[in-house]
Amino acid sequence: MKEQRRNRFDLTGKTAIVTGAGRGLGQAIAAGLAEAGANLLLVTNRTSAEETKAKVEAFGGKARIVQVDIADRSKLPSIIDEAIESFGGLDILVNNAGIIRRTPAVEHAYSDWQEVLDVNLNSVFALCQLAGELMIEQGHGKIINIASMLSFQGGINVPGYTASKHAVAGLTKALANEWASKGVQVNAIAPGYMSTDNTEALRKDPTRSRQILDRIPAGRWGTDEDLIGPAVFLASEASGYMNGHILCVDGGWMNR
Ligand code: NAP
Repeated sequence: MKEQRRNRFDLTGKTAIVTGAGRGLGQAIAAGLAEAGANLLLVTNRTSAEETKAKVEAFGGKARIVQVDIADRSKLPSIIDEAIESFGGLDILVNNAGIIRRTPAVEHAYSDWQEVLDVNLNSVFALCQLAGELMIEQGHGKIINIASMLSFQGGINVPGYTASKHAVAGLTKALANEWASKGVQVNAIAPGYMSTDNTEALRKDPTRSRQILDRIPAGRWGTDEDLIGPAVFLASEASGYMNGHILCVDGGWMNR
């Protein structure tokens, strides 16, 4: 008898929230989840997310945009509420939005430190809490936090960013421990050096740019497309036994 083929990466009918969905890695992840069948709540701050919305709709998905400064904790419940109102539930949360401030530690302004922690870490915990409560109640859910190589390494001139991304990795493991038995999977993707606005300053610096490229076994910077497969994997049934994993998507950087 012929076996029925099953697509373990299918996200048809699932609802996903992606923060920072207007540009960069978040836009690619949102479009990639839509390509796999999901409907998307696109969270953006200053960038119009219309381009991302068009990409989602081109794959036949439904998309809604919410404009929220995720550093403002009081606004975060509205994101979850909007997903439920628009699509009737929530299956996937991708905490992607993030900022970086590059200055040596002794000159690192406290306001920069605070802003980076508010956007990269505090919003992640609050959104995980809000989504997690709902997901625990329904008995299933997938949370994907976007970590970094600087979840493992120190970096140069980015103390706030490094502290925030180490904490995102720790938080991912802490929540996974609590929620795995309740059907809620919390994992992270740690992108390597990807060609986006976030790394523009590095790519413009000929010395740092060469040093980085020389260390990447794949011999190239990553692109936003490189994150789509890993994001769909962690959002889907295919990763059903993964909890608290930090998945490096880095062209081999961490093995060097
Ligand atoms: P990016 O191109 O600079 O985009 C940053 C995103 O975060 C934008 O969509 C931005 O929205 C959003 N954002 C920033 N502050 C926000 C706020 N207060 N409220 C809501 N949204 C806010 O960065 P990226 O390279 O795509 O990075 C995405 C994630 O991957 C970040 O967490 C970053 O740390 C991480 N990462 C990137 C790399 C890399 O090489 N690029 C490597 C490792 C990890 P607006 O445009 O609306 O401001």
